[in-house]
Amino acid sequence: MTRNVLVTGGGTGIGRAVAAAFAADGDSVVITGRRSEPLHTAATALGPTVRAVVCDATDPAQIQSVVTELPDSLDVLVNCAGGNTDFDRDGPHDLASLAAGWRANLEANLLSAVLTTAAVRDRLADGATIVTIGSIAADKGAGAYGAAKAGAASWNIDLAAELGPRGVTANVVSPGYIADTEFFRDKLTEERRDALIAATSTRRAGHPDDIAGTVAFLASPAARQITGQVIAVNGGERTTR
Ligand code: NDP
Repeated sequence: MTRNVLVTGGGTGIGRAVAAAFAADGDSVVITGRRSEPLHTAATALGPTVRAVVCDATDPAQIQSVVTELPDSLDVLVNCAGGNTDFDRDGPHDLASLAAGWRANLEANLLSAVLTTAAVRDRLADGATIVTIGSIAADKGAGAYGAAKAGAASWNIDLAAELGPRGVTANVVSPGYIADTEFFRDKLTEERRDALIAATSTRRAGHPDDIAGTVAFLASPAARQITGQVIAVNGGERTTR
C-alpha cells in the first residue's frame, strides 16, 4: 500500500536519505526546507513520487499553507528539520545575542517539530508514525542545541501518550556523528572528526542511511508497539543499560 509521507528538512543529509528510503518503497513523499534549490534538486533526483514544497518549519503561517498541499491522510511524519544554529552565528557576546542564539536553536529544533506535528495532527491516519530526529547532543550537552533536542525528547513523551490510543507511534531517533550532511557547515576540523569516530565502538562515522533505515523500521508493521522512546543510532558512542 502506498503511504503518504512528510519529511521536513528533506532536501539534504538525513532528511534526504529518509525521503529516498520511503520513495524506494513506492511511497508518496513531500519534502520541505527553506531553500528552494537543494529541495527541488533532491525531489528531481529521488523521482516522481517525491514533491518539494518550500517551507520554514518555524513559521506557523508557512506550515499552515503547506498543510493545504498535503493529502487528506498522512501515514508518516518525519520531523528532521533542524541543526545547530550556533554554527551560523557569531557570539553570543551580550545578553541580547545570547537570547537570540537560544531562541534560534529552540525554534529550529523544538518548535519546528511541535508546530509541524500540531498542524498535521488531524490528518494523521490511525496507525500513523511520527519520528522526530533528536541528537546525541541532548545527552552530551551542546548549549542551546542540546537543550532543544532534549526538549524534543520530553515533548515526544506527551505526544506518544496522546496519540497512542489511535495506534499512532511517536519516537525520537537520536543520531551520533553523521557524515555526508550539511550539519557542521565548515566548522568540523579533521581532529574533531577523528575524535568523534574514535569515540564510537564501530570506529566509523554514521551515514544518513543508518538513520533512514531506523526511521523506515519505526514506520513498519514490526514496530507498532514501540512508542514514546528515544532510539540512539550512534555506533555505541553512548550506551544505555
Ligand atoms: P543538514 O544540514 O544536511 O540537514 C538539515 C536540513 O534541515 C536542511 O535540508 C535544511 O534545509 C533543513 N532545515 C533547517 N532548518 C529548517 C527550518 N527552519 N525549516 C525547514 N527546514 C529546515 O544536516 P543533517 O541532515 O545532519 O540534519 C538533520 C537533522 O539531524 C537535524 O535535526 C540535526 O540536528 C540532526 N542531527 C544531525 C547530526 C549530524 O551529525 N549530522 C547528529 C545528530 C542530529 P534549509 O536550510 O534549506 O532549510
